[in-house]
Amino acid sequence: MTTQQFDAVVLGGGAAGLMCALEAGRRGRRVAVIERAERAGKKILISGGGRCNFTNIHCRPENFISANPHFAKSALARYTPSDFIALVEKHRIPYHEKTLGQLFCDRSAGDIMEMLESECRDAGVRLFVKTTVQEVLRTTEFVVRAGETEFRAPVLVVATGGLSIPKMGATGLGHDLARQFGLAIREPRPALVPFVFDAEDRNQYCDLAGVSAGVAASCNGQRFREKMLITHRGLSGPAILQISSYWSPGQAVAIDLAPGSDVTAELRETGTPRNITALRSALHSFLPNRFANRWLDFHPPAAWTNSALAELERAMHQWKVTPGGTEGYAKAEVTAGGVDTSELSAKTMESRKVSGLFFIGEVVDVTGHLGGFNFQWAWASGASAGRALV
Ligand SMILES: Cc1cc2nc3c(=O)[nH]c(=O)nc-3n(C[C@H](O)[C@H](O)[C@H](O)COP(=O)(O)OP(=O)(O)OC[C@H]3O[C@@H](n4cnc5c(N)ncnc54)[C@H](O)[C@@H]3O)c2cc1C
Repeated sequence: MTTQQFDAVVLGGGAAGLMCALEAGRRGRRVAVIERAERAGKKILISGGGRCNFTNIHCRPENFISANPHFAKSALARYTPSDFIALVEKHRIPYHEKTLGQLFCDRSAGDIMEMLESECRDAGVRLFVKTTVQEVLRTTEFVVRAGETEFRAPVLVVATGGLSIPKMGATGLGHDLARQFGLAIREPRPALVPFVFDAEDRNQYCDLAGVSAGVAASCNGQRFREKMLITHRGLSGPAILQISSYWSPGQAVAIDLAPGSDVTAELRETGTPRNITALRSALHSFLPNRFANRWLDFHPPAAWTNSALAELERAMHQWKVTPGGTEGYAKAEVTAGGVDTSELSAKTMESRKVSGLFFIGEVVDVTGHLGGFNFQWAWASGASAGRALV
């Protein structure tokens, strides 16, 4: 067993861990990053469809979900999207705004990884890949046993991410360490995840897999107006992924199939013939034909009176779907829940109970909306911890 001494050991070479390491390294700290996979930043490489949606210029605290909605504010204010954009521009990485403030690489997510690796190299960070943590102890300092090496440091930063996509190397190490050191955890759950229909809805809609529509999905006081996609098992697309983060099993999601529009107005108010053909044709202006027809097959108007059409109109704006479940961690973009923020300093991410122990990134109970917010949290929490390491 060989022993290596550092000022800080960072567990996990993902977005948060690398950002923390480079910030601390730049300040002259001797930093080791321990990564289980054969290379660092694998999730960065597959993110944003391979182009990495690395931040969102409209980032606000309201874009994050946490038991304490105020917790993320301090870190997000200390390291903003502009700070990350400055780094991207320093490395001359071409990027563009796709939609709704979401910034993507023009070429590939590999540009972001090269940038982080080169910043880490310049900051003298030592990266140990294919290194599996066996045990973490605390004596007068932290001792991390991994393979044939014992890493020692007065500071331990846990940046091992959430449970999403186990195939990419996700593990529960971060949660286990939190428990080991007596920190509370908010029950982890898959978020930004497709829904699976119950048996009845599956029979009624799943043969339409691939059809998408612009809708507004609501649940628990939140509403997202974006695209929805029917899959061979249920519903996905940005509107659904966003609302899934607010959903609890057993709850219904209300889907507005024609947000801001009055589909049956012409039928109610003019002399247009009132029949299923006219109704279908009205709904075709808002939904793909196959989906519109199918939806009307299962939600026909009770009559052709104005009040029955008004009732149908209401139903179109709040189609109630009670998902049978979600696709789970295998398909979830992030893990909600995690280390309870009341355990951590909002300024530095250090544990209030165990000095020298930090938690950053997705392992913490802060979850971003879809659209670059999760990386912004990883950068911001990582930078806050990295700057605080002494
Ligand atoms: C398919 C997909 C696409 C995404 N696209 C986007 C996007 O475009 N924009 C966006 O903002 N967010 C996106 N996300 C979410 C984003 O990737 C995460 O929120 C972010 O990577 C979290 O950073 P992190 O450093 O906390 O964790 P991670 O990036 O997951 O890094 C954790 C690291 O720790 C390592 N690790 C885990 N366990 C151990 C262990 N026991 N020992 C040693 N190392 C360990 C892992 O291998 C990993 O490298 C996407 C997620 C997925 C799954």
